[in-house]
Amino acid sequence: MSRMEDISTPKRTKEIIQRHGFAFKKSLGQNFLIDQNILSKIVGAAELDETKGALEIGPGIGALTQKLAETAGKVTAVEIDQRLIPILKEVLEPYPHIRIVHGDVLKLDLRTLIEAEYAGQSGVSVVANLPYYVTTPIIMKLLEEHLPLENIVVMIQKEVAERMAAAPGGKEYGSLSIAVQYYCEPELVCIVPHTVFIPQPNVDSAVIRLKVRKEPPVAVDDEAFFFDVVQASFAQRRKTISNNLKARFFAKEGREELERLLQEAEILPSRRAETLSLHEFARLSNVLIRAGLK
Ligand code: SAM
Repeated sequence: MSRMEDISTPKRTKEIIQRHGFAFKKSLGQNFLIDQNILSKIVGAAELDETKGALEIGPGIGALTQKLAETAGKVTAVEIDQRLIPILKEVLEPYPHIRIVHGDVLKLDLRTLIEAEYAGQSGVSVVANLPYYVTTPIIMKLLEEHLPLENIVVMIQKEVAERMAAAPGGKEYGSLSIAVQYYCEPELVCIVPHTVFIPQPNVDSAVIRLKVRKEPPVAVDDEAFFFDVVQASFAQRRKTISNNLKARFFAKEGREELERLLQEAEILPSRRAETLSLHEFARLSNVLIRAGLK
């Protein structure tokens, strides 16, 4: 494929933006990348080749889209901002295997989109510099809908990436860590300073790779109830697991029964949720559901 001029150089980005009279919308999380190295790291982490497809969320003016198109066999990019569609069509015109979809990724039927767009590909990954105001809802949608994805490689707020990848025992570990690690193996790829964007965001960022698991690493009787137990356990971080579960699942006089069930799950009532592993949460939710607590 012939090499086109890079969209992401600061000069070219400014030229495109000025020529189209484009004004950034903070409310849509519009911080565009202007650094070749970071773009290459993001694309490299997605392990793409021409047999693979890439689904990009929020292409902006197409800097990452262009890099993806130079590696993947098919790229589909979903952009919410109608003002960017003609710009994307113009700058990405030399790449026939890119399709631009105008829409809100949170409202789209992504399973149908993936099935329709990537029929000829051997695997699909999501690759994106995500809008920070909706990072968690987007990631949770991708995971909870059990979409047929290989990797999710995203630039997100550094603090959110650290929570996703956190191990038990620290203050970053919480229900987001458990949700992400139930579905994926997370790996921090790199920390990114705010100077590589225009306009610059107020926070530092990180690239994280979530390798989507074929099967969760634990067997839970009921997925929704498992996540309910996790949420309830972290309701008040400073409280013990026993007090948090009592507040959510047990009537006034249920303390003894709760402690008996915790013992059955081999969890000390005095522990705090942030010390429990994924395996312990799975054991606990299975014991509670078998005791009829759903
Ligand atoms: N990919 C570009 C880059 O790296 O330079 C732009 C990334 S910018 C952080 C986020 C992009 O997501 C913006 O183009 C914004 O308009 C778009 N966006 C925001 N909310 C969206 C949504 N719900 N669905 C699809 N795109 C969205």
